[in-house]
Amino acid sequence: MSPKATAAAKPVFDVERVRQDFPILHTTVHGKSLVYLDNAATTQKPQAVLDALRHYYEAENSNVHRGVHFLSETATQEFESSRAKVARFINAAVAEEIIFVRGATEAINLVANSFVRPRLKPGDEVLVSEMEHHSNIVPWQMACEATGAHIKVIPINDAGELRFDEFLRLLGPRTKFVAIGHVSNALGTVNPVKRIVDAAHGLGVPVLIDGAQAVPHAPVDVQAIGCDFYAFSGHKMYGPTGIGVLWGKRDHLQAMPPWQGGGDMIRSVTFAKTTYNDVPFKFEAGTPHIEGAIGLGAAVDYLSHIGMANIQAHEKDLLEYATKKLGGLKGIRILGTAKDKAAVLSFIVEGVHPHDVGSLLDRDGIAVRTGHHCAQPVMDHYGVPATSRASFGLYNTRAEVDALVAGLAKILEMFK
Ligand code: PMP
Repeated sequence: MSPKATAAAKPVFDVERVRQDFPILHTTVHGKSLVYLDNAATTQKPQAVLDALRHYYEAENSNVHRGVHFLSETATQEFESSRAKVARFINAAVAEEIIFVRGATEAINLVANSFVRPRLKPGDEVLVSEMEHHSNIVPWQMACEATGAHIKVIPINDAGELRFDEFLRLLGPRTKFVAIGHVSNALGTVNPVKRIVDAAHGLGVPVLIDGAQAVPHAPVDVQAIGCDFYAFSGHKMYGPTGIGVLWGKRDHLQAMPPWQGGGDMIRSVTFAKTTYNDVPFKFEAGTPHIEGAIGLGAAVDYLSHIGMANIQAHEKDLLEYATKKLGGLKGIRILGTAKDKAAVLSFIVEGVHPHDVGSLLDRDGIAVRTGHHCAQPVMDHYGVPATSRASFGLYNTRAEVDALVAGLAKILEMFK
């Protein structure tokens, strides 16, 4: 292949070019250029997403699935075309397997209520890991409390990696479901999801993967992973808030009862009996977040155009660079040193409360998150109440890592 052809096949990732697509990145904070390192909490939106939202309200606004008039048909077409885009993006077998929900949290609650809870009996077990986000813990606790089943916790090692040996030990005849994060928001650990699914399926146990921190950062193929359900949020992948996705295998979705009743999820209603619509509509009661879904479709187009493999490579470079730089600062302890990691750096500044770290960095225009990151069991594992967390996205640069390191060096000096 000629060098020219190779270049055409692999689009070059130009971070400065990418930054031009995000208006908010040009904001100044306390007179300093914004350095946005809170992408695990939520990501900024490219102009293409903002334009799609505006265009929807200026040219297409109407309710979906119900009208025969022009605007309703246009809105419906755009809404359903977003579903198809999301399906292609994660390699779902068919678009009907994409359920639009509010976010990863709602996706997990849907599965907990509609799929898992009816299957649980007293003494049954649901396996989760010690590194889960609260939204992949509490819905299972609620299902267990209601049925007399129990949560079993797969421990992590001190690097923040899942103890696979312990997982295999806990997996047994009582296990009715496994729910695991693809990528930990608190530590950045990437879990071996395919191995987990294969082991669980060996015993006939279905698996949900919480992909909230994976889909924005690496190519995800739900069929290759082989899981039963996969959950993620639009706002963490450069799309709007209030929209997210539950992907489920069609056979499961068809067999599951609806979990909310209302318009659009029915085929017919009488006081004697209601019959339900097909998937995905059976799980989308009421007027959906139409512009959210359309905005998510625009985000998927944007990410696909840049290429998830390019994004993954760029963020890997940032993680390696930041790990080396932060690791070189005396007084900084990084939590989470898994071999396979996404671009999340949780750290402790010795002798300084994380909230002070966050406030002082903010004065330099640097946005990091401080707290327990909705993962209190992870904090308990390390014996800390909170950490500071820098999490990177496709628009971050090595210069921003340098700014973080300079800000931290200043704080260390101040508290010496
Ligand atoms: N799982 C993980 C791993 C997350 O990081 C988050 C958000 N921090 C969630 C689930 C919940 O996502 P949302 O709040 O968008 O529903």
